[in-house]
Amino acid sequence: MIGVCPRCRVGEVLAILRLPHTWTNASGGRVRGVSEVLLCARCDADDPVTRHFPAHGPVRPQDADRLARDLLRRLARARPPKPDEDALKAETEAWYRGDL
Ligand SMILES: [Zn+2]
Repeated sequence: MIGVCPRCRVGEVLAILRLPHTWTNASGGRVRGVSEVLLCARCDADDPVTRHFPAHGPVRPQDADRLARDLLRRLARARPPKPDEDALKAETEAWYRGDL
């Protein structure tokens, strides 16, 4: 078991999808990051990917192709979260004030 879902605090995390992404910061520089999208047995019960993990065991070889297809579909839908502009701004202001 990977852990308990931080969204519902009950469901089991079945898989963690890591999405590399980049964004442009205020000074125009490219920032690289990785967002993690958790697959929760409870929150994502309707997701096709979730049905590949019912027995909490390894994925059966005959299901691997189907799982790969469902994962790719899931990744295509997943959007990495935007950086929190307000938090970034507050941190920048604190830095200029010398609080950091
Ligand atoms: Zn959950």
